Amino acid sequence: MDQPRIEQARKLVTEIPGPRSRDLWERRTRAIPAGVGTTLPIFVERAYGGIVEDVDGNRLIDLGAGIAVVNVGHAHPAVAAAIAEQAAKFVHTCFQVTPYDGYVEVCEQLNERTPGTHEKRSFLVNSGAEGVENAVKIARAATGRPAIIAFDQAFHGRTLLALSLTAKVVPYKRSFGPYAPEVYRAPYSYPYRGAGGLAESIAWIEASVDASQVACVVVEPIAGEGGFVVPEPGWFAGIAQWCRANGVVFVADEVQTGFGRTGAWFASEHEDVVPDVVVTAKGLGGGMPIAGVTGRSEIMDAVHVGGLGSTFGGNPVSCAAALAAIDVIEKEELVDRALHLGERMLARLTALQRETTGVGDVRGRGAMVAMELVHDDGTPDAERAKQICASCHEQGVIVLTAGTMGNVVRLLPPLVLDEALLDQGLDALDAAVRG
Ligand SMILES: *Cc1c(COP(=O)(O)O)cnc(C)c1O
Repeated sequence: MDQPRIEQARKLVTEIPGPRSRDLWERRTRAIPAGVGTTLPIFVERAYGGIVEDVDGNRLIDLGAGIAVVNVGHAHPAVAAAIAEQAAKFVHTCFQVTPYDGYVEVCEQLNERTPGTHEKRSFLVNSGAEGVENAVKIARAATGRPAIIAFDQAFHGRTLLALSLTAKVVPYKRSFGPYAPEVYRAPYSYPYRGAGGLAESIAWIEASVDASQVACVVVEPIAGEGGFVVPEPGWFAGIAQWCRANGVVFVADEVQTGFGRTGAWFASEHEDVVPDVVVTAKGLGGGMPIAGVTGRSEIMDAVHVGGLGSTFGGNPVSCAAALAAIDVIEKEELVDRALHLGERMLARLTALQRETTGVGDVRGRGAMVAMELVHDDGTPDAERAKQICASCHEQGVIVLTAGTMGNVVRLLPPLVLDEALLDQGLDALDAAVRG
């Protein structure tokens, strides 16, 4: 079957959202609880590369990549073909019942590509949250200790333990407690806000919990939902060093930063950090749901037989998609492309910061770039971030907000995005900011 390809150009034929999307929105509100939020209520008909086409025939430039998932672009032909081929062979057996080679191959790829040349093991689950939960289970089994340290600005998912590690209350945590015990939260390095230097973070950890009781630190190399906060140089490595000195498992949550997004296969590499355990998901499957937990073999093998698993985890179709996506990242040199796109985005955002008011900070690494909106006194301006996004949406450009205070506009396009399209997307953002 031929892949339906869509010309890589923006096209607006109705207002956004158009009449068909508005009809579907009516049905959606009757069928689906309001608790499931929506960034942009256009309903998708198809998507290809860096373009999303809605049911009204509008074609939007995607600067969100389904939240850092379709790093290889929407419906990459190699990924779509791998999915179709695998689906025709078999769709599910459950790896714990009767295994298959795709799962093994994805784990070999993860072992090979994650930082460090030590012996590793990987296993596969369905989502970032499930990956984080399993990383904690493994760290507890390996250390025999209960406590977990997480940070301000952290996002680790929405299941109970992952949500206990997540920092942001609204919308994620409000009314869902009580949360899992033995979670301690330390300041994350946030250079723009002058918060959480390495010494401060470590002093805070040591004052809050006995290090001998800590199983693991769970930390993002760059805070994703937290607002693309890049820690000060040396902070991430310093936390890893503290873990090593105290027998604590260092878990890098690379769910959003992995698979080329930051201009490296994994963002830990920018700090020359070799984590004990790496959690991956979003970009891994080229759009299909799959997540990985990869770690030192002595840590990963600490769990008893049968202690790890998941009915759907490492589904054969998802594995086929992941292998194809990894191959695309390699062959199309998307890691380098992330750097290139990132430079273009940073340049435009930096100009906006210089030439307008209210853009307090511009930051990011590779194709993970954001700007933080503030009032004159430096306090967060979430309303402005929302307005800017709304204006981009009206102009046919998908952008997302982020930030613990909701005052960040983040750009994380598919890494295959045409430069011309990126520039058009940035023109829309420019117009939105200059108002
Ligand atoms: C998205 C995300 C998660 C949660 O992933 P899900 O697949 O939504 O469960 C965990 N950690 C980070 C850093 C994320 O960005």
